Amino acid sequence: MIEFRGVDKFFGDFQVLTDVDFTVEEGEVVVVIGPSGSGKSTLLRCINGLEEVSSGELEVDGFPVHDKKVDINKLRSEIGMVFQQFNLYPHMTVSQNIKLAPLRVKNVSKQEADERCSRLLARVGIPEQADKYPESLSGGQQQRVAIARGLAMEPRIMLFDEPTSALDPEMINEVLEAMADLARGGMTMVVVTHEMGFARRVADKVVFMDEGRIIEVGTPDDFFDNPKNERTKRFLNQIV
Ligand code: ADP
Ligand code: MG
Repeated sequence: MIEFRGVDKFFGDFQVLTDVDFTVEEGEVVVVIGPSGSGKSTLLRCINGLEEVSSGELEVDGFPVHDKKVDINKLRSEIGMVFQQFNLYPHMTVSQNIKLAPLRVKNVSKQEADERCSRLLARVGIPEQADKYPESLSGGQQQRVAIARGLAMEPRIMLFDEPTSALDPEMINEVLEAMADLARGGMTMVVVTHEMGFARRVADKVVFMDEGRIIEVGTPDDFFDNPKNERTKRFLNQIV
């Protein structure tokens, strides 16, 4: 579903990704961890074309993303993204936030959009919040709306960039639980997170990045119990 082949990314003279090779199979959940500034967000943003790769090849769901001629809007309509800041439209209700893109971009009928919205709000556990405005919801509820909004386009891939980092501790689990539910349903997911418990329970693969390179990839058990690389060991020692 996603394949990086020798991808480099520069911002001016600064190389932020170096020779990145990495694949995500359909239905796989890949958790990306690494220190701040190691290139995790840039890696995610390349996947949906928010950043252009400088060299190498990147294929996403059959789209050659490295090719300047790729239909970026079509690619993006197949990828949902959830950020640390929920980025909901404050002047729209929860259901308006969720229905906006399906109605505008995918031309679904109003009835279909309504049904999708109810189904998704139930799925993320907040069916009663449809007519509220974002500011009256807790952070955990707002982030679950953001997940529902991402799902409303019926994406083939969901990307998460530190989705719980801005939340109060007591709200982290409800968001991780919505994500775990999505994973169980077979969604292809790439998740940047510092939640190691989630990585261990939900990931098929854990990727460790440092200074723009992928240093180590493994199953959660191998990765956490038997890390091979010295930098991985040092990172894990610091955070646990
Ligand atoms: P992470 O998500 O792992 O913290 P990022 O991908 O956000 O890392 O950033 C990696 C490096 O690239 C950092 O040094 C950051 O300052 C730099 N960087 C990110 N975005 C830009 C940009 N638009 N222009 C210049 N440098 C950037
Ligand atoms: Mg980041």
